[in-house]
Amino acid sequence: MIKQVAVIGSTGSIGQQTLEVIASQSDKFRVVALAAGENLELLNDQIRQFQPEMVALAKSVSPERVNHPKPLFGADCLNEIVSYPNVDIVVIATPGRAGLLPTLSAIRAGKCIALSNKEVLVMAGEIIMSEAQKYGSEIRPVDSEHSAIWQCIQGEGSESISKLWLTASGGPFREFPIEKLKTVTSSEALNHPNWKMGQKVTIDSATLMNKGFEVIEAHWLFGMSYERIEVLIHPESMIHSMVEFMDGSIKAQIGAPDMRLPIQYALNFPERVPNNYRRMNWLNGQSLNFKQPDIDRFPCLALAFKAGRAGGTYPAVLSAADEIAVELFLQNKIDFIQIATILKKTLDSHSSVQNPQIEDILAADIWGRDFALSLV
Ligand code: MG
Repeated sequence: MIKQVAVIGSTGSIGQQTLEVIASQSDKFRVVALAAGENLELLNDQIRQFQPEMVALAKSVSPERVNHPKPLFGADCLNEIVSYPNVDIVVIATPGRAGLLPTLSAIRAGKCIALSNKEVLVMAGEIIMSEAQKYGSEIRPVDSEHSAIWQCIQGEGSESISKLWLTASGGPFREFPIEKLKTVTSSEALNHPNWKMGQKVTIDSATLMNKGFEVIEAHWLFGMSYERIEVLIHPESMIHSMVEFMDGSIKAQIGAPDMRLPIQYALNFPERVPNNYRRMNWLNGQSLNFKQPDIDRFPCLALAFKAGRAGGTYPAVLSAADEIAVELFLQNKIDFIQIATILKKTLDSHSSVQNPQIEDILAADIWGRDFALSLV
C-alpha cells in the first residue's frame, strides 16, 4: 500500500532531502501535502514535480503566483494540513518553534510523525510524549543520532539499556583555542566539515548547542535520565550514536554521513530498503577518533544539560534565546562567544513554570526571545 506523506518545511534542507527519498521510492510513497516558509520559487517546482493535493505557504502572496488551484497561507493552516485524513505520515522538517503546533496537531490527529525538528521536544518534550501516547501517534526520529539510537534498540528491552552515547563531530571549531573563537565569522561557522544542513543547525553544531538540544531530545524520545546520556566528540561522523547495555555490550549505528538514510529509515520503518548512497569503505585506512567535549570552550553543551535537568520552561527559553542569538551572529551583530553569554544570562533571569502547559511554553518562548534581544 502506498503511504501518503505531508512534508512540513519542504523547501528546507531536510524537506528537500525527504522529497528526494520519496521521488526515488514512488512505489511506496506519495506526496499529498507540501508546506513551505517563504521559498515560493522552489515550492512551485516541488508542486510541479509531486502534484500534491494540498499546499501551504507561511508567507502570504497573491494566490495566482502559486502553482496550485487552492493554496493555503499562514501558520494556522498547517494544523489543517497535518490532520488531513488522507495523510499517513507527517514529516516535520521545519526547524525552530514553527514546528511545535503542527506537530501537536498531527499527534492529536493520530498521525505517524517523522520528526526532524528537535526544538519541538526541547520546548515541550513532556507534553509531546504524553500526547503521543494518549492519541496513539508514533514518533519516529529523523535526527541522525536519534535514528542511530532507535536502530540500536530494536529488539532490546528498555530495562536493559544502561547508557546512550550521543556522538558529535565537534563542528568546524573543534580544535580552536578560546581566543580564536572570539574572532570566527559566520561564514566560517557555516562551513560544516561533514554534514549538509540548514544555517541554524550548522551554527548550533559549531557552538555544540545542537548536541545539547539533542541530549534533551534523547531524554524525551527514549525516556532516559540525563545521568545516562553522554556526549562524545567523534570528528569523522561515521558512528552516528551508540547504546550501551547493562552487560557492557555496546551497539553503534555506523554509516557515511547522509541525512537521506535516517529519513528513509523513518519513512520505511520497520523495513529497510536498498539505495545507492555512499558506502563505508573499511579498507582505505579509515580511522575513528573520540574525545571528551571541552565544556570550557563550548559552554552551550553544559547550558543544555542544566536547562534539561531543571525542566519546566527552561529548555523552551534556551531554545528561544538560541534562535535569537544565532540570528544575531549570522547578521554579524554579536561575536561567536557572545552566543553562549546571551543564553546563560537569559536562563539565569528566567522564572520557570513547572509542569508547563502549551500556553506556558509559548509564553516562555516569547519571553526568551525578547529577553535575549534586550541584551544586545
Ligand atoms: Mg543531529
